[in-house]
Amino acid sequence: MINLSNIQHFSVGDGDGIRTTVFLKGCNLRCPWCHNPENLTADPVCLHYKNLGKTETVGKRVSVEDIIPELLEDKDFYETSGGGVTISGGEPMLQAEEIFTLASTLKIHGISVFVDTAGSVPYDFFKVTNPVLDGYLFDFKSADSEKYKKIGGNLTLVKDNMARLMADGIPFKVRIPLIPDFNTDPDSVHAMCENLCEVGISKVDLIPFHRLGTSKYEAMGQSYPYKDTPPLTDEELRCIKSVYEEYFSVKTE
Ligand code: SF4
Repeated sequence: MINLSNIQHFSVGDGDGIRTTVFLKGCNLRCPWCHNPENLTADPVCLHYKNLGKTETVGKRVSVEDIIPELLEDKDFYETSGGGVTISGGEPMLQAEEIFTLASTLKIHGISVFVDTAGSVPYDFFKVTNPVLDGYLFDFKSADSEKYKKIGGNLTLVKDNMARLMADGIPFKVRIPLIPDFNTDPDSVHAMCENLCEVGISKVDLIPFHRLGTSKYEAMGQSYPYKDTPPLTDEELRCIKSVYEEYFSVKTE
């Protein structure tokens, strides 16, 4: 059974073309800027939106058969746009066996499947999913092992996993969340570029920080640690991008 958060149709920021994103619950990291706090735990959570007078419970256990019909609804859009299904989270790789079953079924229907991962899991999990995926969207958050440790991750493991995916010929796209006061100062940016060059990366996607998750924290009765952090200015973004462009082909989402 899959620990499902929700299914989002017509996603355009989760890989190529028009995609349906399947959000799974449960994450082994705790990034303080996370905009999907409802997906951190595997258990269902209750969100109460006071201003809307609305309460919803996020999280349920479903079978692959339960969700396949909904994922097939947009098959025509996937085909005409070069899209497909992206499995995100949380950290979806914690449910590697379930991903294998889901992606195997989607493959029978000719649908492209990507997994969006922070990559801080044993490579054995990737070995389970590699044979049935078209690739990964792989987040790289810092070149500083202490910073990774603080958010619950492991820099060495993340870099090793990228290197092993490359060695195994598995496509993946590196995505870098640009988080103020975490990885956007010049030293951090250069160090991240150098780390990625060591692994042999040639292209990156930059994802500027946003505060779209703020209302979810409020609905969960929690304070969002980044609620007062302003988004990067255009000038800050331009400077950061120009450094990445010295090393890589760069796209900004
Ligand atoms: S890895 Fe992603 S889902 Fe998990 S805490 Fe970090 S930002 Fe949130």
